[in-house]
Amino acid sequence: MENSKPLSAPQKALHRMGLTSPTELALHLPFRYEDETRLGTLREAREGEVILFEAVVQSVEVVYRPRRQLKVEVRSQESACTLRFFNFYPTQLKQFVVGETLRFKGEVRGGLMGYTVMHPTVQKAGGPLPEGLTPVYASTQGLPQSYLRKAVLSGLKVAMKSSHFEPTIPKAWEPHLSLSLKEALWALHCPSAQTPIESLQSHEHPAWQRLKAEELLAQQLSQYQARQARLELRSPILEATTGGGKSLAEQLLEVLPFELTRAQKRVTQEIADDLKSAQPMHRLLQGDVGSGKTVVAALAAAHCIQAGWQCALMAPTEILASQHFEKLLFWLEPLLASRGLQVVWLTGSQKKKDKLASLTLIESGKAALVIGTHAVIQESVHFKALGLAIIDEQHRFGVAQRLALRQKNKTNPNDSTRDAGLTDLEPHMLMMTATPIPRTLAMSYFADLDVSTLDELPPGRTPVMTKVLSEHRRPEVIERIKHQLALGQQVYWVCPLIEESEKIDLVNATQTHAELAQLLSEGLGAGEAPRVALLHSKMPEPEKREVMRAFKEGQTHVLVSTTVIEVGVDVPNASLMVIEHAERFGLSQLHQLRGRVGRGQAVSACVLLYSTGEHQRLSDTAKERLKAMVETQDGFEIARRDLAIRGPGEFLGARQSGAQLLRFADPLVDVQMMEWARETAPKMWHEHFEASQRHLSRWQGIRAEYLKA
Ligand code: ADP
Ligand code: MG
Repeated sequence: MENSKPLSAPQKALHRMGLTSPTELALHLPFRYEDETRLGTLREAREGEVILFEAVVQSVEVVYRPRRQLKVEVRSQESACTLRFFNFYPTQLKQFVVGETLRFKGEVRGGLMGYTVMHPTVQKAGGPLPEGLTPVYASTQGLPQSYLRKAVLSGLKVAMKSSHFEPTIPKAWEPHLSLSLKEALWALHCPSAQTPIESLQSHEHPAWQRLKAEELLAQQLSQYQARQARLELRSPILEATTGGGKSLAEQLLEVLPFELTRAQKRVTQEIADDLKSAQPMHRLLQGDVGSGKTVVAALAAAHCIQAGWQCALMAPTEILASQHFEKLLFWLEPLLASRGLQVVWLTGSQKKKDKLASLTLIESGKAALVIGTHAVIQESVHFKALGLAIIDEQHRFGVAQRLALRQKNKTNPNDSTRDAGLTDLEPHMLMMTATPIPRTLAMSYFADLDVSTLDELPPGRTPVMTKVLSEHRRPEVIERIKHQLALGQQVYWVCPLIEESEKIDLVNATQTHAELAQLLSEGLGAGEAPRVALLHSKMPEPEKREVMRAFKEGQTHVLVSTTVIEVGVDVPNASLMVIEHAERFGLSQLHQLRGRVGRGQAVSACVLLYSTGEHQRLSDTAKERLKAMVETQDGFEIARRDLAIRGPGEFLGARQSGAQLLRFADPLVDVQMMEWARETAPKMWHEHFEASQRHLSRWQGIRAEYLKA
């Protein structure tokens, strides 16, 4: 590109869309097609069909009722048709000369009262018709289809001559693909008139199969590459040597007030086995809300500490981190104290003095377990010897943050006494999530992760009864709350989520808080009124912690909150969860919120209040979400349904979409092709290394960013 020439508006638009190279242009595929290869007739057109037709102009006028518009009457064979243009230029007026034949393209409506076409495109009549189907591309403002079409075609031609799209996959391994990549790209950009449009648009056409196969293989290769790279890395061998006494993990098991579930035992063993390896663990622990991931994390930490290394536990919010801190402090502190070790707390909101104290302990190695928020990965935090990093609610962290944790042993400039070999050692990684990843997605995006699953809840949990109620039935809900309070139970009330405005969130929560406090104290003496607390995201952290502590200890009875309680909060005495404007929440989020109750012995319930504007109805997807909540409590089933409702991109979450998701293939649809790619990638890597590198570089956009961290 010449630097001297300023870019034209359409060129700028191409750049904005990332269509800057011939190969990118060649891979910008049409999303639909139009058939302009023959002229149609108004009479044969179906309602709403887009056709190309020629007609003679009968009259041209600008009318002002019901609003300003250009109205052109035309006649085609026996049919009369009105063309309407709401936006038009004077020059456009001039192209309509009474008695002249022109060619139009547009969507045909009506019939009985004559046909109507709004905003047809207008061309001279009699010109040659295209020989193939006309592709329609995703475009943007300032980029006309005609310009984009030409740009794509010329890009395609250049790309075809380069080696970029030469075959890479050994023929014998291909899954029934009838077209080469080059042929496929031609077929998609310039399909012949005979190609069934439906097969192109539904992505079933052989050309699409080729693209999907190529893309999926690239994705699997890239994950295989990540796995191979990880095999080269070294981590400390975290094997407990006890010298005859009890190990820290054994001691911890003795002080726990419960027996581990079978699932917890199995998963704990899987992790312990990984930790004994010199290759970094890269494990995802998935388990439904309340399945008891925390204790599994604590046991992993105990293994690590027993082996003489430090462990870091990072959680996405301060509330959640502080709960972990309290719990692990309670469990581990007495056991660690006798070994001269400590559990320390580290967050952004900490007082400077406290923070410095924590940092010193971390650097000296005295802090065996460090618990905190994002603060844990800050540059100023230097571990003496980090052996294990645990990330709770991993989907709330980005790739960069996970990477930073992994790099922690490499970044201590101060410590000259350090064993030189240490800096090469990566900590083992344990990621935890309450949103299980359905198998189809795990295969596609997390192939490099080992997965452990807690598929069992601790005993004694009561199923949560879920009810969907219209906002009109709020008074009943108030009665229900009173009943729960009378039984000595506690209640959560989650306020509407309004993404765009945290301010409105706050107003709503504050109002609800006042209203509930008033309604619940009606008719009661001052000392008898239940205490209603408010928790919202704008509160200073210490205040939040204090509100949570009071609720946890039963000093307050109802907790009105914005979604800050979404993850991980554990108050077993709470038995009723009310979610206002439940229709605005995502399915996984609703499930997480519901998981806050049903943790104790009492019968628990979750009330989903929905409310729609006066004339609005619940959207179909909102209905599906609420229905799913009533029908199932199984986190895995919820995840499957959530995925079906939202699609993979959204399901995996905005934070992670920094990694390019698949562009052509759909992991929910192309399951067989995915299996093929999974089997083929390792073979190709080992037997055709050079071709697999070429294949990877061709599909460079599809970096498996997830897997690098
Ligand atoms: P999550 O998987 O959602 O993080 P937690 O680790 O917070 O779940 O555990 C939920 C609750 O269950 C906690 O109160 C925890 O102490 C308790 N718990 C965990 N494991 C068991 C068990 N095996 N038996 C009984 N209670 C358990
Ligand atoms: Mg948890």
